[in-house]
Amino acid sequence: MNMIYVVGIGPGKESAMTAEARQAMEASDVIIGYSKYVELVRPYFSDKAYLDTGMRKEADRCRMAFEQASSGKTVSLVCSGDAGIYGMAGLIYELSPSWPETEIVVVPGITAAISGGACLGAPIGHDFAVISLSDLLTPWDLIEKRLKYAAMGDFNIALYNPSSHKRHDYLQKACDILLTVHSGDLICGYVQNIGREGEKAVVLTLSELRNTQVDMFTTVFIGSTRTKVIGGKMVTPRGYRDV
Ligand code: SAH
Repeated sequence: MNMIYVVGIGPGKESAMTAEARQAMEASDVIIGYSKYVELVRPYFSDKAYLDTGMRKEADRCRMAFEQASSGKTVSLVCSGDAGIYGMAGLIYELSPSWPETEIVVVPGITAAISGGACLGAPIGHDFAVISLSDLLTPWDLIEKRLKYAAMGDFNIALYNPSSHKRHDYLQKACDILLTVHSGDLICGYVQNIGREGEKAVVLTLSELRNTQVDMFTTVFIGSTRTKVIGGKMVTPRGYRDV
């Protein structure tokens, strides 16, 4: 049976990669991914063949993986964080009916909400939502609705894809929606380059976040009304009762 592992490699550093992810890549002949992620794993698996594509070539990357697998090679298709969270796992399954001979194994990884959360302290200690601000695949009015309802439900929110060159004001727009529900004093945070060179975690208020420019290698954390700052860390208690 031809084999594709869809591997979540975690935030970037080798120590945050699971043993299962490492085993999948060890067992592969070819490693395929977006160039930046391929560069993150190449030093650790230098004897493998590598194929990379630009950022918005997800379907091409999947087809490449199926073609390689069909030629008898074991393939790892790598994604940052977890392969199922804004990753390639879903797309591989969607395309899989055309390649019935190929077995697919999804290998989970530490997603940015988890690795970034640890950098900030304990920001998602209670119910939380994960929302991507990218409107490439989701209409913006649906993103706005999700932001509003998550805030109304007092969820902690991890915001992925908070910015890009074309969408430099999306975080500001998102904060404006959150500010229709929450006060400007709400505790928030963001982490840049989690597990990579230049890692930086910042705790700030929602009003301050609104006026902050972040880049695409950043995950943003919105507090709930229970979230507080303890010793400089962003902490959401596990419940609504005082300890
Ligand atoms: N599959 C990935 C998410 C891909 S979407 C995961 O599970 O983590 C890309 C977004 O994820 C980025 O815009 C950023 O918001 C977040 N992200 C992924 N890796 C990150 C890292 N190392 N540091 C900060 N943010 C990261």
